[in-house]
Amino acid sequence: MVDYNFKKSEDFALKLDLEDPLACFRRRFHIPEDVIYLDGNSLGLLSKEAEESVHRVINEWRNWGIKGWIEGSHPWFYFAETLGNLCARLVGAEPAEVVATGSTTVNIHSLVNTFYQPNESRKRILADALTFPTDIYALRSALRLRDLDPGKNLVFAPSVENRFLDEDQIVEMMDNRVALVFLPSVLYRSGQLLDMQKLTENAHKRGIPIGFDCSHSVGVVPHYFDKWRVDFALWCSYKYLNGGPGATAFLYVNKRHFDREPALAGWFGYVKEKQFDLAIEFEHSESAGGWQISSPPILSSAPLEGSLKIILEAGIDAIREKSLKLTSYLVYLIEEVLSHHPTISR
Ligand SMILES: *Cc1c(COP(=O)(O)O)cnc(C)c1O
Repeated sequence: MVDYNFKKSEDFALKLDLEDPLACFRRRFHIPEDVIYLDGNSLGLLSKEAEESVHRVINEWRNWGIKGWIEGSHPWFYFAETLGNLCARLVGAEPAEVVATGSTTVNIHSLVNTFYQPNESRKRILADALTFPTDIYALRSALRLRDLDPGKNLVFAPSVENRFLDEDQIVEMMDNRVALVFLPSVLYRSGQLLDMQKLTENAHKRGIPIGFDCSHSVGVVPHYFDKWRVDFALWCSYKYLNGGPGATAFLYVNKRHFDREPALAGWFGYVKEKQFDLAIEFEHSESAGGWQISSPPILSSAPLEGSLKIILEAGIDAIREKSLKLTSYLVYLIEEVLSHHPTISR
């Protein structure tokens, strides 16, 4: 733990604000009046940059109609890949390994069904029961699609106090009956950040592919997917990425898997240069883009261009540093002030 040398006084808190290298970014967001907004983990706020990129796309549609797909400085036909390139820098991936597409749950269906390849002895999916329920619904339906009983084949890592997971216990469950591990990066109930590198190393030692739902970590925590050799990942963009309600999600596929057949094929996953040959045989792009299904929702993707640029400008390491410092200060104040408060202390 860093020793921040915190003090209780208001002067000290104001001094921290003055010294904060990220304080200037506050002005670039629209902040609802009279609230202290602590819901960025559920819906991030609108930035001026995101507002501008939405207006630009609206203008393109107004001025060009269908030509917007291929004309202008940001042709829509390549927009999913362009946003993927920006986001790849946030998660330690190569540009071709990330694409903006679908929604979190659709991407779980698409990637889990791609990477879950059960055989006679290995049928289990290892997950955790503390994760966001939609993840569990999707895993159960992947099993049912293969006529496998979710009651038997979906196994959950034991939780500690219904709030935390112990990585060592998860690793213990990675036995030769497990065909896939799928976990969240952060448990939304407790904020616990799992050690993705350790989990990936251990899954791979046992020959098991592993994927992560990073909805609660991308945008606030640095990721090194390539270095960790994570097989696949996906995340939403309306929480810490500030992409707006229901904005297009992202997915990551490690390049060593580019030759895999996407489980949910669609024409936007076709080899880009030949998509408009409109051939009847599907030939998927050898990139994360191969896992696209439909025409990209340009209006729900537009804000991401502005919002990702802000995050990249601030720098994910600086964001993480500030987040740790803010939280440490809150914990310090709770311990120093509230726990001695006569009506609040336990
Ligand atoms: C926010 C979140 C989702 C949301 O799913 P959508 O398909 O985007 O509605 C799913 N999983 C996790 C872990 C989340 O945090």
